[in-house]
Amino acid sequence: MNTLYINLSHLEHNYHHIRSIIGSNVKLMGVVKANAYGGSDVEIAAHLQKIGVDYLAVATAQEGRQLRQNNIEVPILVFYPQFVNLETLFEFELEPSIYSFSLWDHLIEWTGRKKIKNHPIHLKFNTGMNRLGFELNQITELKEKLSNSVFDIRSIYSHLGYSQESSPFDLIDRQTEKFKKVVEKFTDHFTERPLFHLINTSGVFNRPDLTFDMVRCGIGLYGYANHSRWDQSLKSVMTLESKIMQIRHVKKGEYIGYDKAYRYEKDGRIAILPLGYADGISRHSGNQKNKVWINGHLAPIIGNVCMDLLMIDVTHIDCQEQDTVEFFGTHQSTSLFAENSGIISYEQLSNIGSRIKRKVIDHL
Ligand SMILES: *Cc1c(COP(=O)(O)O)cnc(C)c1O
Repeated sequence: MNTLYINLSHLEHNYHHIRSIIGSNVKLMGVVKANAYGGSDVEIAAHLQKIGVDYLAVATAQEGRQLRQNNIEVPILVFYPQFVNLETLFEFELEPSIYSFSLWDHLIEWTGRKKIKNHPIHLKFNTGMNRLGFELNQITELKEKLSNSVFDIRSIYSHLGYSQESSPFDLIDRQTEKFKKVVEKFTDHFTERPLFHLINTSGVFNRPDLTFDMVRCGIGLYGYANHSRWDQSLKSVMTLESKIMQIRHVKKGEYIGYDKAYRYEKDGRIAILPLGYADGISRHSGNQKNKVWINGHLAPIIGNVCMDLLMIDVTHIDCQEQDTVEFFGTHQSTSLFAENSGIISYEQLSNIGSRIKRKVIDHL
């Protein structure tokens, strides 16, 4: 059986560590998009709410609805609202990020028809990453539209594309300069000053001078910060474990799994585990690219990873059927496991499939 353990006391440790870096005057937004990076969004959001997070963020309206339907009451920013599901946004008091005039016009038209007033929204600026967002040269037009709009502007933000790069780094500086111009243009524009925010987790560790009014942290809350040195002060929240289904002795010359991907040069022993690429263990982990932790040893994944199963070499490891195997989290860092598969911690965590049972614990 496969289990993803979610350690709330580690979440709490990371939360307080991030708070200690940003100081008491800066707000903390907990990012719980994509099922809280593959964990379990409702449980994680509920715990963050309990310990005092200021804001939460999700990617889509449906993710926000799921939280609202489970008693999450803190303000929720929706990073990437699309032109659909507007009903959901308003019905569940979700706060959309507006990134273009087309979305703006669409929302105005919709809220006008529904006679909705004073709904909280956020404005997103592109400062160099060239993803979603308004451009700086649209500020004048934006201000005109704002002056007779029905929205309540809660925050204005941008996103760094290189926040983990060690300083000085000219592209961070360029983005920051642009964002400071945005701040300057809007600071005195509203009766109630909106929050300004720029940085994510690696920004907090790398450039704590750029916190502005709030930081948006996802991966850091889950125990990783894109740099092994920064990771040291954090604790891994998610641990993926499995149990050996079967142990098999193989003879010299025999092949393992699909496509003759692995051949035993000597007699050996393999263990078969009940998870595969459908559960988020990439095929790039196979063929000895990656290892799993078992009874104090690391066993290589051999052959091609299948959809539902994978094989490990346990020729030299003392183990038996039903023994526990850890993929990552407690004994092996998720960043390292991800790196061995050619991906990043974010991708490994958010790939953890829906078939894997989530189990919330207070300690490991
Ligand atoms: C996902 C996301 C974050 C969180 O980033 P981390 O590196 O996980 O802290 C912050 N801001 C935006 C706009 C995001 O999409």
